[in-house]
Amino acid sequence: MSSPHTPYVVTLGVAGGPRIWPSPDQERDPRAARCAGIATAVVVNECVYLVDAGHQVFTQMARAGLSMAQVKGIFVTHLHSDHTIDLNNLLVFGLFELPEGRRDPIAIMGPGDRGVLPPVSPRATQEPTPVAPERPTPGTAAMVDSFIAAHATDLNDRILDALRPSPAERFQAQDIEIPQRVGFHANENPSPDIEPFVIFRDENVTVSATLVVHPPIAPAFAFRFDTAQGSVTISGDTRPSENLVRLAHGTDLLLHEAIDFGWVEAAYGGRSDDTAQASIDHHRKSHTSPVQAGDLAQRAGARALGLHHLVPANTPHSVWRTASETFSGPLHIAEELGIIPFGAPDDESPVSRDRADSAEELPAYQENHS
Ligand SMILES: [Zn+2]
Ligand SMILES: [Zn+2]
Repeated sequence: MSSPHTPYVVTLGVAGGPRIWPSPDQERDPRAARCAGIATAVVVNECVYLVDAGHQVFTQMARAGLSMAQVKGIFVTHLHSDHTIDLNNLLVFGLFELPEGRRDPIAIMGPGDRGVLPPVSPRATQEPTPVAPERPTPGTAAMVDSFIAAHATDLNDRILDALRPSPAERFQAQDIEIPQRVGFHANENPSPDIEPFVIFRDENVTVSATLVVHPPIAPAFAFRFDTAQGSVTISGDTRPSENLVRLAHGTDLLLHEAIDFGWVEAAYGGRSDDTAQASIDHHRKSHTSPVQAGDLAQRAGARALGLHHLVPANTPHSVWRTASETFSGPLHIAEELGIIPFGAPDDESPVSRDRADSAEELPAYQENHS
């Protein structure tokens, strides 16, 4: 374990996509199950900054020995459900881990309202019906309000009868404001060139954001955490992005998403129907291969590269290791509950566990917009 003063990330969950990836190795080695969804804790001076809140984030924090009482901020890269599904859990269950005397609310920062629905796929054979037509594209603040409202019966019992705290007081959600001059528009200009901009600052970290490319969802952000000891940059979901290269310039650790396009082709490619083709289109325009991630890290001058948000999460190690064809520095294939120090003054060796090469079989086809 690192010294308390060496900042590090805990890769709480590394699986991308709104599903749990099966693994043929699961019975022999339970660690081979890729259950936990994407979520990363940046730990600086024992304070925790969470990036994304995928499936089981709260459980994984407990397993990692991290408490909500340590959390100073929650940063949401984009509003795909694999990144937000257990944000609700942090708000409703996490509330009870907060010390009673704590007055400063925990910041929750993420994308604002998309503002307009995405265009309908040209492959549609009939007009799809959106959900929640009265508010079809809520941002982070509205999502948090909805989570709290959905649990109002429970929460109000506790607030009124047991005099428990209210999540509305203990958390402060806000939508990240994109500088107006860049001309962002969710459909027409979702990822304009932009200089990184600061969204959060405290005694431990300065957090900067940039726009990445993950259509049709928009905005989609990458974040960089600068500390006195070093920096980590987290890509969010994106295809190769020049804004990301700029944000990650000289960073100590780039944690980048990765997809196995070979799996995409095999899993969907045999089908010619429009639903399958629309899913293939989505993956091609919205995600990054390990070789591409290596190239981005190399061009950014990152000192180390970690791959996470693995799709599919049971792809053999050998596929992810191809990032070393384009990146000459240390490569980490993130493991559930893995620890990767960044910016350590004594260059200590990373302690993230190597995952066993597992699935050789491809999982069955399943919708997976991630
Ligand atoms: Zn995702
Ligand atoms: Zn996504």
